[in-house]
Amino acid sequence: MRETFNFCAGPATMPYNVLKRAQEELLDWHKEGASVMEVSHRGKAFVALAKECESDLRELLDIPANYKVLFLQGGGLAQFGLVPLNLLGTQIGDGKTTVDYLETGIWSKKAMLEGARYAGVNTLYSGKADGYVDVPHQNEINVNPDSAYLHLCSNETINGVEFHYDIKNCPIPVVADMSSNILSKRIDVNQYGVIYAGAQKNIGPAGLTLVIVREDLLGKASPYVPDALNYTLQAENDSMLNTPPTFAIYLMSLVLKELKEKGGLEEMEKLNHKKSFMLYDTIDNSRLYRNPVHVDARSNMTIPFTLADPTLDALFLKEAEQHHLINLKGHRSVGGMRASIYNAMPIEGVIALTNFMKDFEARHYG
Ligand SMILES: *Cc1c(COP(=O)(O)O)cnc(C)c1O
Repeated sequence: MRETFNFCAGPATMPYNVLKRAQEELLDWHKEGASVMEVSHRGKAFVALAKECESDLRELLDIPANYKVLFLQGGGLAQFGLVPLNLLGTQIGDGKTTVDYLETGIWSKKAMLEGARYAGVNTLYSGKADGYVDVPHQNEINVNPDSAYLHLCSNETINGVEFHYDIKNCPIPVVADMSSNILSKRIDVNQYGVIYAGAQKNIGPAGLTLVIVREDLLGKASPYVPDALNYTLQAENDSMLNTPPTFAIYLMSLVLKELKEKGGLEEMEKLNHKKSFMLYDTIDNSRLYRNPVHVDARSNMTIPFTLADPTLDALFLKEAEQHHLINLKGHRSVGGMRASIYNAMPIEGVIALTNFMKDFEARHYG
């Protein structure tokens, strides 16, 4: 174990065993006589690693055969533009030009604003007026059948709002930004057209972007999409049209092995519920801490909370650090605190945090 528990929202804490293993084989990977980051992405050893990484991901998420898995770059933000550019390209002017958006927080709003450069935007739901504290229920989502797709963010990393269900049998493809909750629970991939995620929250280090795309959505890219970011070209080239982020893929493969060893997503789901329940329970049973999100939309991954007396914020952060609980400062747009408790945060970290929070309240707000 390390001495600190790191609650950073992203890049986020990595599993200890993964870092340890990477450290052990950093100088000589698989007796290649070189580090994994120093060998060709087209060499036998790395190609085998990438294949295994993909098959482990397919197994963990139960990805059907008619979906392609792409290892790209550019992060989640780049996908805000790349999704419309890849899905609407050939249709602009002669087909669907509108996209339905669910605005449940700061990330989905950003996606919508960028999407507006390429598509007509139809905001089906906005939680803005209430301060982003809820998600719509499935029966409140009336998609426009003429829209190209529906876009949503499955976990709002900043606002701490999460969809706890997959939208079922949507008449248009569902595109989901799962940057901050992918692999945290079981999902039904069949209900999605595209799933994308920057790696640095729940998959591995920054620099890798995962895209899972249903095959019938390929072949629709605008001619202005750079080849390296074109879903169809990358699918045809096993994500090796250009040099992929090899070291990040290697670390992702170690993370997936660890998830499989721990019992897969069913076990992660149970553990993540347990961890978030402890933290919400501490918040709800205190006078000092508060989380504004509606109970059934509360995130199991990224949990913002404010202090009733904000003049205690700085002291809270200082004392937390002294207790080896680091990076708890909230996002600048929301203030207060945020505890990100992704897969890699052990339950011991949440126990230490909640014990500290109770003790801090008793000493300073009793
Ligand atoms: C972090 C995050 C992003 C942005 O990711 P970058 O890799 O910085 O581009 C987008 N969406 C969500 C939900 C995120 O958590």
